Amino acid sequence: MTTHQDGNAGGESATARTVSVDVVVVGAGTSGCYAAATIADAGYDVVVVERKDETEAGHIACGDALKGASDFPDAIPKSQLEPAFTNTDVDHGRFEIPQEDTVLEIPVPGELAVIDRWEYGRCLIEGASDSGVEFHYDTVVQDVRQDDSGRVTGVKAMRKGDPVTYEGDMVIDGAGALSILQDKTDLEDATFDTNVQYSQFCSAYREIIEVDEPVEWDDALVFKPTERSAGYLWYFPRTDTEINAGLGFQMNEEPMELVDDLKRDLQGRSEFEGAEVQDKLGAALPTRRPYDSAVAPGFMAVGDAAGHVNPTTGGGIAGAAYAGTYAAEQAIEAIESGRTDDEAALWEYNERVMDHFGARYAALDVYNIFTTAYDVDDLMALLAALPGEKLAEALYGGSTSIGLGLKLKMAVKSIGHLGTIRDLYQTKKAADRLLDHYESYPSERSGFESWQRERDSIMDDIYEVTGAEPKY
Ligand SMILES: Cc1cc2nc3c(=O)[nH]c(=O)nc-3n(C[C@H](O)[C@H](O)[C@H](O)COP(=O)(O)OP(=O)(O)OC[C@H]3O[C@@H](n4cnc5c(N)ncnc54)[C@H](O)[C@@H]3O)c2cc1C
Repeated sequence: MTTHQDGNAGGESATARTVSVDVVVVGAGTSGCYAAATIADAGYDVVVVERKDETEAGHIACGDALKGASDFPDAIPKSQLEPAFTNTDVDHGRFEIPQEDTVLEIPVPGELAVIDRWEYGRCLIEGASDSGVEFHYDTVVQDVRQDDSGRVTGVKAMRKGDPVTYEGDMVIDGAGALSILQDKTDLEDATFDTNVQYSQFCSAYREIIEVDEPVEWDDALVFKPTERSAGYLWYFPRTDTEINAGLGFQMNEEPMELVDDLKRDLQGRSEFEGAEVQDKLGAALPTRRPYDSAVAPGFMAVGDAAGHVNPTTGGGIAGAAYAGTYAAEQAIEAIESGRTDDEAALWEYNERVMDHFGARYAALDVYNIFTTAYDVDDLMALLAALPGEKLAEALYGGSTSIGLGLKLKMAVKSIGHLGTIRDLYQTKKAADRLLDHYESYPSERSGFESWQRERDSIMDDIYEVTGAEPKY
């Protein structure tokens, strides 16, 4: 890493400092730490620029449910994160549906841990530091530098009140949802997805609550619909007496009073009587399909900054870890071939994301679109009629098969909602078509525009079937 005083680079003040590295990573979250650790492991110079101070870094609004940690990428192995796992006994979801007076117990496929999220954040940073990553805390990125060809060459930041310029062969944006970097970058000539609006995000809030008596459901993730269809409340047990309680709503809806709505629900549950709130945090998260492309010359986005979140559950930690790793591996390849300025040399990153989880998340988003167009009571009746395994498949798999027997069972249980069921079948067919299409995501940049055109035409059908407002 080289550092020098920069007299007039980019027209900055005479005291601006410039830090030069191979790769600049913005954000010390999951995606940034995995990206940086992978790059440092390969022997390259990398700095993580983080706006929070050293103590606060890693303290991130989250439901604390970590899925799939058993096979997280090697750059920061599971063993390094395990000290933050506070509950590994959760094996099912508990869906409370007050409208139907029903509780559904739904198996959660794969490994799941509820974690102390702040401790997990510290473990991540420690893991990346062990690989040789340098962290610059208290450093807020405010602008992005591009050369005349449009290639991203670095970022401008304020570090404890002083301007610092970071330059590198590649900038990786791991700055989370609604990243400022993308507002500040001219991406007009790139494939990078700029079709991003607030309405594709969820606003969420959570409290960590300590109760005196152990809760009975410490082996379950508890979900409950909010009073409107586009949101849900959760109660995730970090331990049997420490609960992560939170809620969120899709930002195309009338805003919810998150703090008050949570308080009201807590007050209605006897297990929270006399409970103490230990911590409060809120944030936005993307509940949309992954970015069509998250690359531009000299630039890649990872994790929340590229929509790598399961849009039905809001789970984004696993996607962030993998996206960070894949982007870093691609950056290394591009540096070694001297082609960091060429989108075609970065393309494989997009492909790996779509192949691993992006296609599935895009198909799941169809169900989100479906729910925005229907009445909450209708949907809850339908949910109550679906057997647990099918719901689990639908929540995590992006698709579920619905046989004739099940159709009949559902129809009998949900008389009065037959129209919704019919529409759901049509929607499922459209989601399957979309999944197929994403599974043939182009392996080269040249196939991108025609792939997008075909995808948009499938989306048109989805809006027609669901009657939902176009989301993209
Ligand atoms: C309330 C809530 C509950 C959630 N629950 C779960 C859950 O239970 N399970 C799950 O898997 N996922 C959950 N998620 C999603 C999950 O938290 C994210 O998907 C995940 O943290 C994404 O990681 P990331 O590294 O991409 O971004 P982040 O973790 O958001 O990290 C971004 C980092 O960038 C820094 N940064 C931002 N802007 C700048 C800037 N200008 N300059 C310098 N630094 C900057 C931030 O300070 C932060 O440290 C939840 C999200 C929310 C909001």
